[in-house]
Amino acid sequence: MSIKFAGRCLIVLALGCPGLGAEPAPKPSRFEFAEPHMGSEFKLVLYTNDEATARRASRKAFDRIAELDNILSDYNNDSELMRLCEKAGGAPVPVSPDLFDVLSRSVSMYEQSEGAFDITVAPVVRLWRRARREIKLPTPDRIAQARALVGSDQLKLDPASRTVQLRKKGMRLDAGGIGKGYAAFAAIETLKKEGYPIALVAGSGDIAVGDPPPGRAGWTIGVAPLDASSPPKRHFLLANGAVSTSGDAEKFVEIDGKRYSHIVDPRTGIGVIDRCSVTVVAPDGGLADSLDTAVYVLGPERGLRLVESIPNTAAMIVRRTPLGDQTFESSRWKQLTPAPSPATPIETPTIRTP
Ligand code: ADP
Ligand code: MG
Repeated sequence: MSIKFAGRCLIVLALGCPGLGAEPAPKPSRFEFAEPHMGSEFKLVLYTNDEATARRASRKAFDRIAELDNILSDYNNDSELMRLCEKAGGAPVPVSPDLFDVLSRSVSMYEQSEGAFDITVAPVVRLWRRARREIKLPTPDRIAQARALVGSDQLKLDPASRTVQLRKKGMRLDAGGIGKGYAAFAAIETLKKEGYPIALVAGSGDIAVGDPPPGRAGWTIGVAPLDASSPPKRHFLLANGAVSTSGDAEKFVEIDGKRYSHIVDPRTGIGVIDRCSVTVVAPDGGLADSLDTAVYVLGPERGLRLVESIPNTAAMIVRRTPLGDQTFESSRWKQLTPAPSPATPIETPTIRTP
């Protein structure tokens, strides 16, 4: 069975193939759950012995995602992240281990990407959200005012006291470029800790996987195409890692014939206009999600240089040009195990949580 990921058309298939000379022990069955979190539908696929166990395990995984949403949401004024933003311009604030970890990883990606990924980009993102609603470009003045509040060099993290200081009054954080990948991977870690290593968790274009389904070398991951409505053309196998996709396939605004993405260049304050889809594979979800956003902002040439410099990461970029689509692949992308386009239906029933 294929899982169609809302909007992104990333198709992930896990096919249970009986292997030759199989063990007499019963093979675990496949269970699938879905719940809304972080403004997306999160899917969870899990192999275990019975439905009651699968339900209990999935509850723990979804609870972990909900816990991270309560910490990271910028739609909920009560989230830990938003409460931290209210203290901008003041003294260092003690934060939870999860928030400190997300901010540390974000600052690290800011430094590695020379500012292309910037979790302090919120004031600029806010302008472009309004631009999408009103189909009207932000004024240069507004962009300049917002940009003055952006820069992760003004975010001070102290690991010893686990405190965070936003040094400028008015600074705001937006974990939208890292949160879903981080949460999908955290859910996989929870499942592993609880004894369920054969699992996949996906929040829209951010997927994390544990051990592969029985008898298989990996989960079959479809690469999201540039056109949100068409099916993936390429598939590869992945186990114990994460994959994230960024692009302008869904969220964008078109003004005077120019298409501006919901991903903005923090250094210019402008929505990225390159028509691209970026897929990143990495050992963990926070890295995959933040890196795909950074690569999207940097564009194929500089983006791939960044990917080459980060161990165990790989990327594929498809860029639309007037002469047709161009594909760029990092060196480690070529080492992924390609998988044929899957066609066999899955054997076990689908369970959807209410
Ligand atoms: P998606 O939200 O489509 O999965 P991304 O993972 O690339 O795609 O995240 C995009 C979100 O990240 C935006 O909606 C915004 O909240 C935030 N964002 C936009 N531009 C940047 C940037 N340059 N650096 C960090 N976060 C960004
Ligand atoms: Mg991202």
